[in-house]
Amino acid sequence: SDKPLAGKVAIVTGASSGIGAAIARHLAGAGAAVAVAARRVDKLKELQEKIGEEGGVAITVKCDVTVREEVKELVQHAECTLGPVDILVNNAGVMYYTLMKNLHEEEWERQIDLNCKGVTNCIGAVLSGMLERKSGHIVNMSSDAGRKGFPGLAVYSGTKFFVEGMSQALRQEVCDAGVRVTCVQPGDVRTELLGHTTDTEAKEQFDGSSSHKILEPEDIGRAVLYAVSQPEYVGVNEILIEPRAAP
Ligand code: NDP
Repeated sequence: SDKPLAGKVAIVTGASSGIGAAIARHLAGAGAAVAVAARRVDKLKELQEKIGEEGGVAITVKCDVTVREEVKELVQHAECTLGPVDILVNNAGVMYYTLMKNLHEEEWERQIDLNCKGVTNCIGAVLSGMLERKSGHIVNMSSDAGRKGFPGLAVYSGTKFFVEGMSQALRQEVCDAGVRVTCVQPGDVRTELLGHTTDTEAKEQFDGSSSHKILEPEDIGRAVLYAVSQPEYVGVNEILIEPRAAP
C-alpha cells in the first residue's frame, strides 16, 4: 500500500467533535486503524461511519479519559480489536474563559482533570507497551496558550504549560527507546470549544479579539498526520500553527 500509516493502530481521544474528529479522519485516510474515543457515542458512531465510507477503518470506544479504569479498558479494547497501539493522540480537552477573581472553581478543576490528568492517564495506559516494542508516537494537543499565558485563560494556559513541560521531560526519557513525543500548538480553531464558557465578563473582555482569524480542524489534522508519518529517526517535537487573515 502507498498509504504512509498502513498497518498502524492509533487512538484519538476527544474524537467526537472538532479537532479530534479531523485528526481521526486524516490518520484513517493515511491507512491507520483508528480507535475513536470520547463520551458521546452517537457522535463517534457517525464519525466511524464517515471514515468507513471514505475507505478507512475505525472503531468507537466510549471513554471518559479522566477515569483511569476507563482509559485502561480503552487501550485493552483497542489492542484486542486492532492490535498494539502505535499512535496515541491526546486531544480531549476543555477551555473556559474565566477571570480568576470570579472563582469558577469547578471549571478550574474540570480543566485540570481533563487537560492534565486525562493526558497522564492515557500515557500511563500505553507507555509500557510502546517501550517494550521500542516503537510508538504520543501526540499531545497543547495550544498557543501552552507557550504564552492569555488573560481570561489563566487555568487553561496553566494546563497547557503542564502538557508542554511534561512532554519535554517525557521526550528525553523515551527518545532513545523508539518513542516519539510531539506537541501541537494551535491558535484559534473553529470548534465547539469556545461554546463551553459561562463567565460572561471574561468572554466579553477577552474572547473574540482575534475571531476574524481562525483555523479549521482539518488544518490541525494535516499537522498531526505530518508529525506521525515521518521516518522513525525524525522527531517532530513541536508544531505551532497560527491563523492568518485570508487576503
Ligand atoms: P471540542 O470541544 O470541539 O472537542 C473536545 C473533545 O473532547 C470532544 O470530542 C469531547 O467529547 C472530548 N471530551 C471532553 N471531555 C472528555 C472526557 N472527559 N473524556 C473524553 N473526551 C472528552 O474542542 P476542540 O476540538 O477545539 O479541542 C480539542 C483540543 O484542542 C483540546 O485539547 C483543546 O484544548 C485544543 N485546542 C483547541 C483550540 C481551539 O481554538 N479550538 C486551540 C488550541 C488548542 P465528549 O463531550 O463526547 O466527551
